[in-house]
Parts: sequence; C-alpha cells; structure tokens
Amino acid sequence: MDRVYNFSAGPATLPEEVLQRAREEMLDWHGSGMSVMEMSHRSKWFEEIIKQAEADLRELMNIPSNYKVLFLQGGAWTQFAMVPLNLMKKGKADYVNSGYWSKKAIGEARKFGKVNVVASSEDANFSYIPELYPETFSKDADYFYITTNNTIYGTRYTKLPDTGNVPLVADMSSNILSEVYDVTKFGLIFAGAQKNMGPAGVVVVIVREDLIAEVNPEVPTMLQYKVHAENNSLFNTPPCYSIYVCGLVFQWLKKLGGVPEMQKINEEKAKILYDFIDNSNMFKGTAKKEDRSLMNVTFITGNKDLDAKFVKEAEEHGLVNLKGHRSVGGMRASIYNAMPVEGVKKLVEFMKEFEARNK
Ligand code: PMP
Repeated sequence: MDRVYNFSAGPATLPEEVLQRAREEMLDWHGSGMSVMEMSHRSKWFEEIIKQAEADLRELMNIPSNYKVLFLQGGAWTQFAMVPLNLMKKGKADYVNSGYWSKKAIGEARKFGKVNVVASSEDANFSYIPELYPETFSKDADYFYITTNNTIYGTRYTKLPDTGNVPLVADMSSNILSEVYDVTKFGLIFAGAQKNMGPAGVVVVIVREDLIAEVNPEVPTMLQYKVHAENNSLFNTPPCYSIYVCGLVFQWLKKLGGVPEMQKINEEKAKILYDFIDNSNMFKGTAKKEDRSLMNVTFITGNKDLDAKFVKEAEEHGLVNLKGHRSVGGMRASIYNAMPVEGVKKLVEFMKEFEARNK
C-alpha cells in the first residue's frame, strides 16, 4: 500500500488507524450484519453511534450541559446563513473580516440584518489578524463573529476578543479540536468536518441552549437550530456515515490523550516547519509571525515558476496537495491533527534538498 502524505486543506488526511477501523467494520458493523451506510438512522445501532460521537466530543471539548451539540448538513457555508437567521433577534451583529470565509459569512449575514465590520485585515491580503478595540464593538449586537483559523492565509487568533454579554460566534472549521478552547467563552461554534473531524458532509454546531430557544417561525424548518436540537440531530436523515467516521476520529483523539496532547503535537509540527522556513534563504512565510496558524502553513519562494516546480516535485516524492490557494499563491501545507509528525519531517527534508538543488 502506497499512502502519500496529503497536505490538502480539506477534505484532508484522516488518521490511518481510523480508516483501518472503518474498513474492518465496513461490511458488518458490530454484528449488525450491515454497513453503517445501510442502516436506518432510526435503528438502535445508529442511535448508539450518534450518541457515542456526541458524548466523546463533549468529553474532548469539555462542553457544558447547557450547550447543544448538533450534527447538521450543508457545510460551513449553510452556517453563514443559519447563524444570522437564528441569532439575529435585534437585527444587528459585529463581524471581524479576517479572510475569504469571514467575508463570505459577512455577505450572507447582510441579507438578514445590519452588519458592523469592526475590523479587517483585507488591506494586506489577510496576512494578519486585525487588532480589536472593544470600544468599537456594538453594545447592542446580537452576536460577535470571528473565524478562529483562516485556512487560506494561515492565520489564527491567539487570544479571543472579550465581547462581554454579546455572544461570541466562531467558525472553527479549520482548527476545531487542534488546540484547547474554553467553550463557555462562546455562544456558538460551528465547524465543517472535512479538516479535523472526518469526511465531508457533516457540520458540527455547538450552541448555548438559551440562544436558540426562540426562532422566527418563518425561518425554513431545516434551518432552525431549535428543530435539530429538539430532535437530537435526527429531525431528518442525517449524514450517517460521516457522523460515524467523526465518531471514530473522536475515539482516536481520546486514545491519544485528548485535545491538550493533540495541541502539543500540533505545536511541535508547526514549529518544525516554521523554524525551517524562518531560517531558509529560499522559502518565506506569508503570514505575520505572531498570528501564524498551527494548521495551515503558507509560504512562497517569491518566484512563481519555482513555486510550481516545488509543488510538482514534492508530489513526485509523495508529498501532495501543497499548492497554495490562488489568492495567496505559493504553497500551503495543511497539517491538521491527522498529519503525523513524520509527514512534516519528510516535507522539511524535501524542502531542504530542493533549496540546495535550486540555489
Ligand atoms: N470556513 C472555513 C474557515 C473554511 O476553511 C471553509 C472551507 N475551506 C469554509 C468555511 C466553507 O466550508 P464548506 O465548504 O464546508 O461550506
């Protein structure tokens, strides 16, 4: 078997152990005589799978009992609309524009109410996290919205804004479970699964109960958090197989020592790569040092042809999907939870060798 090191930004690499387990259980899940793909979402087996996945996620993130955990569909994109549709009661929210995905979220929210963009880093192609000044926050906002990790640019918040009584809403799609977060600091967290949790098709929403107790009845049924919360994510047919694999990833993470241990490994991986980039004469990081992501490492050579050559040759060495997003160019190595330390070491080895050869 020839598995590559896959640095894709998402859908991304999954722990090999999880894939093996899914393979073992593919034809007959725990004596049920069928695959999870073939099960009724109302069966006792699937109920066990989704309950265990939720319990494990609660344990991993230390989610208090007054928060609901929902497994929904429509990707992170649908959350860009569901958040304002459900939470904009007074019709106003603060947003930080820290990248492409924040901007898309702002665009959706504007369809439903007044959006106050409190800060932006668009002036420097989102290469940093903008400074936030609480005196510019709207005291009467329904919520305050951030993107904790900016997948395309490789930046992340190292400290959360203090929004007082205004609930903090976070798109955590590209760094959920990668570092320790205090869930009580948030009103709502959402994350698409396809980077740090499992296959595409499911989006996890963690939301404080009181924020979803009331909803405008005109909001489409499928877009009401309340409906999904009341039905334990089984209002309609959920993405069963994706939820099952997320559950396997949660178990893998628990076995590894949970999020604190994962964070240590992620810091080690990022340090190996950033240290090399910082000392290289060829490669340069594109994100501001203080705001650099642990998950998405963005870098360039400064020469487009050399970038392309690097990406192509890396691929020939089994290091794939290193091409940067078109809006940044260069390279991006996504080193999510499931990327082993050896993968990062192999990448650095190759970068070293490439640099020596292309002086
Ligand atoms: N938010 C962030 C931070 C992302 O990285 C992405 C996808 N790369 C999205 C939102 C959009 O996710 P989806 O394709 O699941 O809608």
